[in-house]
Amino acid sequence: METILIVEDEADIAELVKYHLEKEGFAARTVGNGTQALELIVRDHPDLIILDLMLPGKDGLEICRRLRSSSATQSIPIIMLTARAEEVDRIVGLEMGADDYVPKPFSPRELVARVKAVLRRTNAPLAPDESPVSAGNLRLDPTRHEVTKEDHAVDLSAMEFRLLEFFLRHRGRVFTRTHLLDQVWGQDRFVEPRTVDVHIRRLREKVEDDPRKPTLILTIRGLGYKCRDENSQCV
Ligand code: CA
Repeated sequence: METILIVEDEADIAELVKYHLEKEGFAARTVGNGTQALELIVRDHPDLIILDLMLPGKDGLEICRRLRSSSATQSIPIIMLTARAEEVDRIVGLEMGADDYVPKPFSPRELVARVKAVLRRTNAPLAPDESPVSAGNLRLDPTRHEVTKEDHAVDLSAMEFRLLEFFLRHRGRVFTRTHLLDQVWGQDRFVEPRTVDVHIRRLREKVEDDPRKPTLILTIRGLGYKCRDENSQCV
């Protein structure tokens, strides 16, 4: 059974979330103080943490930062809760290493769905897929390590190639910089999240018709990036 730790000082919200998680077969536990939360996490190593931003003791960002800076806890997925819906908090939360972000008020069902999605993503290793993949006039062939655009070879660095392949195999899904770092760069935490932006800019210069108006790898403001959905004609 997967264990979820709910770090939230508003007892009624914490209990409501706990109730819905238990209904779905999770083992859930609540804690209302940031300092105690950190102790519990280090001791019990939960499978996922639902972390409120505003807490007595240590706040959510501080907890997130501490968890991400220790090799014992850096891979525990975190879903951040906050009443403050400003974009800046969302970006800070994601760049601090949270895996997802749910603004209050939220529906407990929606939160449970996010928990499942994050766990699925975290538990699924990148399946090696050797089949070629394409988008419009762009084609990527992993076995030949080749990318072509309108049948002309595109020269990509190893990381740009990995990044492009990852996007093409997960079309329509939004990825934060943190996700991309985890999934494409691996667990190398010395890489700055801004590195992702740099690689995406270079990749766009090579694969987009007009890199200033990308139609394949799209910026999702305040969240991250996604590859245009296969079925959508407009962006
Ligand atoms: Ca709170």
